Formats: sequence, structure tokens, C-alpha cells
Amino acid sequence: MVAETKTPDVAGERRFLQFIGGEWAPATTGETYERRNPATGDVVETIPWGNADDARRAIDAARAAFDAGAWRKAPATQRATVLRNIAAGMRAELLPLAQLLSKEVGKPTGMAIGEIAMAADVYDYYAGLALDIKGDAITNFVPDAVGLTVREPVGVVGVITPWNFPVLLITWKLAPALAAGCTVVAKPSEFTAGTTFELARIIAAAGAPAGVVNIVTGPGPTVGAELAASEKVDKVAFTGSTAVGKTVMQAASGNLKKISLELGGKSPNIVFADADIDQAVGGSFFGIYLNTGQVCQAGSRLFLQKSIRDEFMAKLKAFTSTIKVGNPEDPATTMGPVINEAQLEKVVRYVHAGQEEGAEMVCGGGRLQGDGFDRGLFVQPTIFDGVNNEMRIAREEIFGPVLSVITFEDEDEALRLANDTVYGLASAVWTKDINRAFRMAKGLQAGTVWVNAYHSAGLPYMPYGGYKQSGIGRELGHEGLAEYMETKAVQIKLS
Ligand code: NAD
Repeated sequence: MVAETKTPDVAGERRFLQFIGGEWAPATTGETYERRNPATGDVVETIPWGNADDARRAIDAARAAFDAGAWRKAPATQRATVLRNIAAGMRAELLPLAQLLSKEVGKPTGMAIGEIAMAADVYDYYAGLALDIKGDAITNFVPDAVGLTVREPVGVVGVITPWNFPVLLITWKLAPALAAGCTVVAKPSEFTAGTTFELARIIAAAGAPAGVVNIVTGPGPTVGAELAASEKVDKVAFTGSTAVGKTVMQAASGNLKKISLELGGKSPNIVFADADIDQAVGGSFFGIYLNTGQVCQAGSRLFLQKSIRDEFMAKLKAFTSTIKVGNPEDPATTMGPVINEAQLEKVVRYVHAGQEEGAEMVCGGGRLQGDGFDRGLFVQPTIFDGVNNEMRIAREEIFGPVLSVITFEDEDEALRLANDTVYGLASAVWTKDINRAFRMAKGLQAGTVWVNAYHSAGLPYMPYGGYKQSGIGRELGHEGLAEYMETKAVQIKLS
């Protein structure tokens, strides 16, 4: 397998193997799964279709590697060097990795390049933090004792990730876990596992000892569930839907393993009349349509102050008409297909729900068919105006290019409507009034608030995560590293 992935052949179909204890191996049953390009229907890759036995083998390998200590006891400089080597390895293969990512997800190649480059930056960032893991000395409370706090890796980590940003989101977990000295078993989404296997190859070549990073693939309710439930796993780090996140949390309770959950959203994007309207139109456009709307933090509820509604909607509609939906390999394409049939059906279902609930469809309207579209899973960018916050298209995560537009009178109403959701992942405010910006930033119940921007996330040094049912814990930044460490208090009595 290593030989096959060393020279990526992006034109052809690739066959991947699982990566367990430093070795490439098929699933125990020999079963495989074919991933097809959502733009063309062509087979992109074949991955092993593992089961709970495969997951257990990988967990045993990670457990043995952690307990043996080659990684957790390695000098910080060694861990930092491996992390830097991973970043360099990814940059050296930027284009072939991006081409594979583009075929798996259906995102335009330029955007795939951006994802790989951002992920490489995260490994570099945590290489720096790996050199700065330290505790405290408490020496001034009593004369006859000294207290020390010591930071230690949490242990074996089960990582479960989705398909929308498969390289970036696994990196948000792998990089801090490796910096902390943990060992990992990762289960990527079955729709986008090839790029994770390529990453595993780069990680091994970067110098991570055997068993430190293990990759298994197969159904979530089998392989993922084993990672969440296993008594030998100390922490599970999950990104995916809120519904599956709840299942993972329950499964993790068996041995009270640590958990971090990055879940769904229905994020409010609020534009006040005093904003720079052109900037806000551009930001709102990017906020909903990036990655065909398949973004957890998508600005899927657009709140417009009533006085600017007509001007704003005219500009947004004109902007939306410039989107070129098509095959991501065509350089002119700005929006690719959705990930799979189920997602396509879900988007179409919500478009119908919006119409049935009485919202006004300004543009779009479901599946794209005809020349150039028939082999793929393409949907039209869709805007609903006249939405109220009680409609399903305003309350439920669609995970597609469907925007719900709601108007408001004043700050109080904007804040009340924005926070009236079970989610709390991200939010944005557009205004030139600094006091209003701060008031809104303080009032919004969300893990991220952008002011006069949207999607400027993924900055390695800014913590990322959700309020309410959008998650538990934080990724990135110092908080993201702390998720992979325990704090030990050492109390020394002096005589
Ligand atoms: P999903 O919840 O269906 O699957 C996520 C992962 O969990 C996959 O690897 C899947 O195989 C696995 N899984 C499925 N059932 C499982 C089970 N019973 N036990 C353990 N693992 C199981 O999500 P998806 O469709 O892959 O991704 C879309 C969702 O992810 C959206 O809801 C989106 O908002 C969310 N998401 C959140 C963030 C964030 O940072 N908050 C980022 C990206 C995506």
C-alpha cells in the first residue's frame, strides 16, 4: 500500500489499506467500499470496510504504543520536529493531495489547496506549542510544602471525523494530540478516507513511531461506536452531527472517557443598516455558499435590518447569479456538487419545506439537471426571503447552499432571534458602530463572533467550538492542546 500511495496517481482509482501499528493491512473480513466522485460518479478510491475487530486491533496498537512510552516520553523537540516534518510533507505534495481531496468531496481544486495549506499551518503551530508544555510551581502558600502542577498526555485518543473538511478537521485533533504525547486511532468518514490514508503515510514518514497514529475505516455505528465505547480509549474527539454526537457521548460514559464534540450549527449572520453594504453582501455570500453550504458554521440565517432589505437582497441575488456550479476540475467552477445522494435528497426536501411553509424563493430551487449535471449531485444555490424564525428552514441544519433571510427592527430583536436556536457555533455582525459591535459580541450565544467578516476561522491560534448543542470543548489555540492533557498536582511536604 505504501508503494501505491507514494506516487499518487490522481487520474486513476486508488486502493487504500488500513494503517494499524505502523503496517498497512486490509479489513479483517477483506471487505471494501468504493467511493465515487460526486461530480461524475466515477470511482475515486477503494477503502477497507472494517468492523469492530479492526477497531479493536487499532486500539490495542495505540494502547501498546502509549504504554511503551516512546512517544509520550520523547523529548519535546522530537515531537516538535515530527509535527514540522508533517507540515513540510503536506506542502511538498500540496497539489496531488488537493486533487484527491477535490475528487472525494467535490470541492474546487483551489479550495482544496487552501484546506491542505491551512492544515499544514496547524501542524507548524502545534510544533511550537509542543515546546512550551509546562506546569506551575506554587511555593508561597505555606512554608513547609511545595506544590507542582504537571501536564501529562491524556492517553489513547479515538478520533471520529466528517467529510466536509476531511484534512483540516482531523488535523485539528491530530496535531494537538501528537504535541501532547497522545496516541491516536482515527476513523475518517467513509466518503473521504483516502486523504486521511495519505496523511497517515506522511505522518509515518515524518518520524511518528509505529502505533502512534492508526487509521481504521468502516461504518460509523460499528467502527466509530467501538472507539467511543472502548474501555481502552481515554478520550474521544468527535466532529459531526449533533445527533451522532449525542450517541458518542452516551457510549463514552461507560468508562467516563474525556470527550470533545464539534457539532452542527444554524449560525446567525446579522447585518445592520449602518454596515458597509457591499462588504456585507460579499461576506454573506461567502458565509452561505462556501463548500456548497456544507460547512458547520455556515451563515445559514441571514438577519437584515428592515431598512436595507431591498437593496441588500437585490445585490445578493445578483451576486448569487454569478455562481458557476459544475465539475470541480473545471477551473471556471465556483461551486461543486453535494457529497452524496442522501445529502442531495436532504437539500431538496428542505427546499420543498421552505415553499410549503410559505417562504418566498428568490432564486434556486433544488437539483440541477441537464447537460453537464446528469452524472453528478448538483443543487442550485437557493435563497428564501420572508422567513420567520419558527420555520424549519430557520431552525434545522440543512448543510447545503440554502439561505434563510429574516428581517429585524433593532438590536434587541436581532439578538433575541439570533439566540433563539438550540445551536451556538458561530455568528457574525456587520456594523460600523464599535459600541454596537461589542454589545452584540457580548450578547451572542456562540463560540465564535465575527465582526465585519465571515468564515475567517481555522486560525490556528483562535479557539474554536460551540455553545449549547453545537458542542463541548474547544479546538485550536492553547485550549485545543489542553483538551489532550491531564493536570497532575504534586504536593511535596518539606521537613
Ligand atoms: P455524521 O454525524 O453523520 O458523521 C460524522 C462521523 O461519525 C463519521 O465518521 C461517521 O461515520 C461517524 N459515525 C456515524 N455514526 C456513528 C456512531 N453511532 N458512533 C460513532 N461514530 C459514528 O456527520 P457528517 O454527515 O459526516 O458531517 C456533517 C455534520 O458534521 C454536520 O452536522 C456538521 O454541522 C457537522 N460538522 C461540525 C463541525 C464543527 O466543527 N462543529 C465541522 C464540520 C462538520
